[in-house]
Amino acid sequence: MRSRRKLGKETDVLLGEVEEKLRFLSLLGVEFVTRESSVLSLEETILSCQRCSLAQTRTHAVPGEGDLNAELMFVGEAPGRDEDIQGKPFVGKAGQLLSKIIEAMQFKREEVYITNVVKCRPPGNRNPQENEIASCRDYLLTQIDLIEPKVIVTLGKVAASFFIRSSLGMTALRGDFHEFQHTKVMPTFHPSYLIRNEGNKDLKKMVWEDMKKVMAFLGKK
Ligand code: URA
Repeated sequence: MRSRRKLGKETDVLLGEVEEKLRFLSLLGVEFVTRESSVLSLEETILSCQRCSLAQTRTHAVPGEGDLNAELMFVGEAPGRDEDIQGKPFVGKAGQLLSKIIEAMQFKREEVYITNVVKCRPPGNRNPQENEIASCRDYLLTQIDLIEPKVIVTLGKVAASFFIRSSLGMTALRGDFHEFQHTKVMPTFHPSYLIRNEGNKDLKKMVWEDMKKVMAFLGKK
């Protein structure tokens, strides 16, 4: 396994568990431990997670999907109804808008990695609670550690707050890169917020300005 940044004790424990599974696989004759096998092993762990009570109400946990070598990662809040049913992130109305944004940025959806702070749907789509975010924390940190994106785009306040300690609202936070453990983080508005405020063209404009900064950083014109 690659040398890794220090992420904290619990994340190290989780990475240790992933490594343990991979050692077992190698005993079974799987010869190469790749980034792919590490992320897939982590996703498997998430699918059977029982760390918080959302496990009792979910249909499917939603680990995330996309290119495991992606330079661009999108992080939302938590799965909604459609995502819970399908086990995939951002497949409902907000997901369709996110797909359009990704394509406008000259990426295919399969070329980026999409995930959420919380991997199971909070009942009725309520905001995830602090304990639920804490239970899922290592999963996202480990995904970042394994995939090593160059840029993380956070969608909405819950995802922004995971990476950026600030009492500022989204309007003040967005528009500039922030730094999280040597990775650039660009906070922007959640697609659901754009949908709820469809008449507000300024919001769309601001998201596009944010995405243009990400494109420029990643060498897209
Ligand atoms: N909203 C999110 O934050 N994540 C999803 O996966 C879907 C909707």
